Amino acid sequence: MISFCNLVRSIALGAAFVCGCILGKSEYSRMSNSTRNRGGKNNPLLQYVHNHSMREHPVLRNLRLRTMEDSDNAMMVACEQSQFMVNMAKLIKAKKALEIGVYTGYNTLNIALALPDDGVVVACDISEDYPEIGKTFWKEAGVEQKIDLRIQPAVKTLDELLAAGQANTFDFVFIDADKVSYDTYYEKSLKLTRKGGIIAIDNVLWGGRVLNPSPDDADTVAIDKLNKKLHRDTRINLTMLTVGDGLTLAIKL
Ligand code: SAM
Ligand code: CA
Repeated sequence: MISFCNLVRSIALGAAFVCGCILGKSEYSRMSNSTRNRGGKNNPLLQYVHNHSMREHPVLRNLRLRTMEDSDNAMMVACEQSQFMVNMAKLIKAKKALEIGVYTGYNTLNIALALPDDGVVVACDISEDYPEIGKTFWKEAGVEQKIDLRIQPAVKTLDELLAAGQANTFDFVFIDADKVSYDTYYEKSLKLTRKGGIIAIDNVLWGGRVLNPSPDDADTVAIDKLNKKLHRDTRINLTMLTVGDGLTLAIKL
């Protein structure tokens, strides 16, 4: 029987192959998420990937299109990456998820749709305005009761969850807020995640800037430092994928 780790490894390798080899890593990395989320208009291969793999709930699709009208739409997760992460969450039968950085809540909605009726996604953002865009769609999709939105610095929410005795209870975490706090988010998320749970960390390639981090660029330095730390971290198994702007999956041992 195929083991869980081998299954995760196979899926991860598949995703890396599609994104890194077929699309061509450099070309793919240069593409902005807003181009991706409009269906990759000038990229026939990405269009092919979307046309042959995307299974967006109609309300999720409408939230993506609404998000594309926002001037900060480059912040939205790539839709094919969101689908991949949700498939990972389903694979581990996730019931409890954490989203650190919500923006308009595309990925929050996607994961809420995948959770069972008694599932919950704790959604952390510092902005009132961005998640407000998503709320109507969460309601329309009938999953608003599964989304526990907390508007305050994410670190405060993570500390509150830990203080409330929720360590080792989360199945799936997506880290996608301010980059300088990534290591703090990772350490607190690792405490909150159960063994076998997944912490997905976004933008780990940061448009390629991790190859040559400038000391003045705090975001790049923080991402590169965490990437190096995770490589040696014996508390997890990990895979770094070239999907989107780079995605690390850390599986808690
Ligand atoms: N995960 C989202 C998606 O799937 O589309 C995209 C998140 S976007 C890249 C980053 C978000 O992090 C923004 O909405 C921003 O307001 C939020 N953010 C920035 N600093 C934060 C902080 N200290 N605490 C919580 N959220 C923060
Ligand atoms: Ca991101």
